[in-house]
Amino acid sequence: TKELPADPILENFRRPVRECFSYVSPKKTSQPILVHASHVLAKELGISEEYLHSEEFLKVFSGNSILPNTHPYAMCYGGHQFGNWAGQLGDGRAINLFEIEHNDKLWALQLKGAGETPYSRNADGLAVLRSSIREYLCSEAMYHLGVPTTRALSLCKTGDKVLRDILYTGHPEYEKGAVVCRVSPSFLRFGNFEILMARDDKATLKILTDYTIKQFFPQIQAGTKEGYIQFFQEVTNRTLKMLIHWQRVGFVHGVMNTDNMSILGLTIDYGPYGWLEGYDEGWTPNTTDSREKRYRYGNQINIGLWNLYRLASSLFPLVEEIAPLEAILEGYRDAYTQQYQEMMKSKIGLYSEDSSDIELINTLEENLQMTETDMTIFFRNLSSIDKEAVITDDFLAPVMDAFYNPEELDESIRETWKQWFEAYVSRLQKEYISNLERQEKMNAVNPKYVLRNYMAQLAIDAADKGDYSVLEEMYQLILDPYGEQKDAEKWFAKRPDWARNKIGCSM
Ligand code: AMP
Ligand code: MG
Ligand code: MG
Repeated sequence: TKELPADPILENFRRPVRECFSYVSPKKTSQPILVHASHVLAKELGISEEYLHSEEFLKVFSGNSILPNTHPYAMCYGGHQFGNWAGQLGDGRAINLFEIEHNDKLWALQLKGAGETPYSRNADGLAVLRSSIREYLCSEAMYHLGVPTTRALSLCKTGDKVLRDILYTGHPEYEKGAVVCRVSPSFLRFGNFEILMARDDKATLKILTDYTIKQFFPQIQAGTKEGYIQFFQEVTNRTLKMLIHWQRVGFVHGVMNTDNMSILGLTIDYGPYGWLEGYDEGWTPNTTDSREKRYRYGNQINIGLWNLYRLASSLFPLVEEIAPLEAILEGYRDAYTQQYQEMMKSKIGLYSEDSSDIELINTLEENLQMTETDMTIFFRNLSSIDKEAVITDDFLAPVMDAFYNPEELDESIRETWKQWFEAYVSRLQKEYISNLERQEKMNAVNPKYVLRNYMAQLAIDAADKGDYSVLEEMYQLILDPYGEQKDAEKWFAKRPDWARNKIGCSM
């Protein structure tokens, strides 16, 4: 348990022109217990198994004690929420504790749900066990799926009660409080830059941008116009890359406001997120977005661009020229088309070029929406199709498990699928790799196990009764999403009927 360094971000912001952060202490909790800790992440941070289960760890990571020479703080940021400028927001329930340097990597650790900060507005700064389990499991699940993301180190129950409106009844009820320790190289968001632009504070904007470049983009020259342009290009690239991964695994973030967009292109802020079960471009898990569906699965890439426009405006004072920023934004569409096609081709096991590929993918997407078709099961099982396959009457058998309502597969739908499978198999014949090789490659991009919405809910329901075994089972499951886990076959299955529309909620 070496002494941890003071936060270098603070060193840079010792004399801010105007406030970028506030020192704040986590709230003490009455009966903290460690519910779960990520041993995988602890190892990456150089935290020993022994320390993970020490009294000090519990104290620090439940918010009851501050390590010597550390200065916890909350960050100030702004943001566009659902398309509108929302003004100043900030870490209303996140407190940065300190940073850890290990194996030449720098990690910032922050508590979520550790009480009020100057940015809490009317809210309490707390988090409930339900939403904390969702964040804890999902951020680690995303990491093991190979999706750029913030991480989660620990989940503590506080022993305190938190008042929340219950989603379906609308009535306030007491729930169990919890604190998650989130971990990331940085928690800076687009909103940290937007707030400075909104305040017309170019001097601090420059300090923040130069700091970000030096710290996280060392290949770029800070302090120059060219550097700021390159920085924006790099953030654009990373953001798009992250979004392509979301589409690949069927993750829907649910609240892609600019304050929830990481400047490092990491998935951040696991609130009302959800996983596609039936493939549906119009689906969003966020019940507060159910009319416009701004953040639906099929719109995430567009919103990424919209958000990058906001970031470009914020960086404009440093670049002082519209053209280079616009060129980058315009390049996003082409890059998207290219990377998206590439990703979809990898999901169906195509590696060479063919003029029919785009149509094959478009048709597949349309077909998947004809009836409720489980995205994960469909793509995973598609790899079992041989390129020598003859399309007979039971051609749908390999993917049959993916259909929620097989009785809906009438003559015309079967015919539509049949045409697609015929085109697919003949396209596979133009590939040189063997069936086995293709299957392996497809299985490495099509996960077998994702954190289906009801699975997180099962972990929550058990944890609510003090039983953390389901949480542990889910945690073990997400460590190897692409593997074949012998004892986990029940999690490679369609959502059961009772769980239809059953999702957690954000607060
Ligand atoms: P989100 O929609 O989770 O990104 O949150 C939007 C803003 O509300 C952020 O500034 C959060 O810090 C703040 N916020 C959300 N929940 C709470 C809470 N329980 N207490 C204080 N601030 C909150
Ligand atoms: Mg947020
Ligand atoms: Mg949130």
